[in-house]
Amino acid sequence: MKPTLVYHLDDILHNAQTLRQLANEHQLNHLAFVTKSFCADLKVVEVLAKAKPDYLADSRILNLEKMQHIDIPKLLLRIPMLSEIENVIKYADISFNSEMATMSALNEEAKKQNKIHRVCLMIDMGDLREGIMFNDCDAIYDTCDHLLRLRHLELYGIAVNMTCYGGVLPTSDNLNQFVKIAKEIEAKYSIKLNILSGGNSSAYNILVAHQMPCEINQLRFGELLLLGTETADSQAVLDLSQDTVTLQAQIIELKIKPSVPIGKIGLNAFGQKIVFEDKGNMKRAIIGIGKQDVDADALFCKDDRVSIIGQSSDHTILELSDTCEYQVGDIIEFKTNYLGLMRLATSAYVSKEYK
Ligand SMILES: *Cc1c(COP(=O)(O)O)cnc(C)c1O
Repeated sequence: MKPTLVYHLDDILHNAQTLRQLANEHQLNHLAFVTKSFCADLKVVEVLAKAKPDYLADSRILNLEKMQHIDIPKLLLRIPMLSEIENVIKYADISFNSEMATMSALNEEAKKQNKIHRVCLMIDMGDLREGIMFNDCDAIYDTCDHLLRLRHLELYGIAVNMTCYGGVLPTSDNLNQFVKIAKEIEAKYSIKLNILSGGNSSAYNILVAHQMPCEINQLRFGELLLLGTETADSQAVLDLSQDTVTLQAQIIELKIKPSVPIGKIGLNAFGQKIVFEDKGNMKRAIIGIGKQDVDADALFCKDDRVSIIGQSSDHTILELSDTCEYQVGDIIEFKTNYLGLMRLATSAYVSKEYK
């Protein structure tokens, strides 16, 4: 069998329903489920849809297109490229934006397609990825002025992203400041902002600690939903399942070999010089999956008698303890993390199964 990523749909549904319930308790009535970590695999999306999120959100327009037949509004998370404007208007009901030139282009295209497209303005609260800087009022108002003149766009809300580039944690301080910006925009233009989008899975801790300002009505859950872990410190969240995806890979070679390479040692396939500890002979297995599909440090073997000792683009080398009774053709199972899930979901060399 090919290496296979197995989705445990019951566990995923449990997480989706638990987070929907949590959102209801906190008046997050614009809850978004983020589908990018599993490439918006439709079997998984259909399970998530059962929990009735208010939006399906993704950073890739191709994924939104894939989900277009599902009757839940679509939110584009990554600010659009000028080259994808037509499809943004076609497949996204709402997009996050920070650039006037892009919004002008969206407006032109929305006019062509006879649509009103909703925009959430990204505000950068200090994490320094996308958004207008929170302390640059002139830039915020200039952008709002511009946006409000575009007849085929609607200023629908504001959004912030944290714990990504800069690792800045959401706190009641920076989120209250964010809410204050929303209120100033509402007052200045006499409008109502429908969405105050306060962040991703890393906002979980302050949400359950009741430190999230009550005006925030949207969070965008990806990692929490799919892996049951919270991004700020990768802690398992107790009410959620962490047993949602498994990678299965078959042993293609199983041999006793020395632990130190033999010969004059240069650089490995990735230009690195590796130092080997001499542990004598060891039982080693190779599985047919490599860096092209997933990084070794994103994989966690379920059998603790097995550990990963190395990887090339197409192979992963495992050390098995003497007590292991595996044979060529047997399956080794792994858990993975967020980036691992993303890479495995993207790889055409990895089959997908659903349990
Ligand atoms: C990826 C992404 C999310 C989801 O983040 P998680 O940490 O997986 O919850 C939310 N918002 C934006 C803008 C994103 O790019």
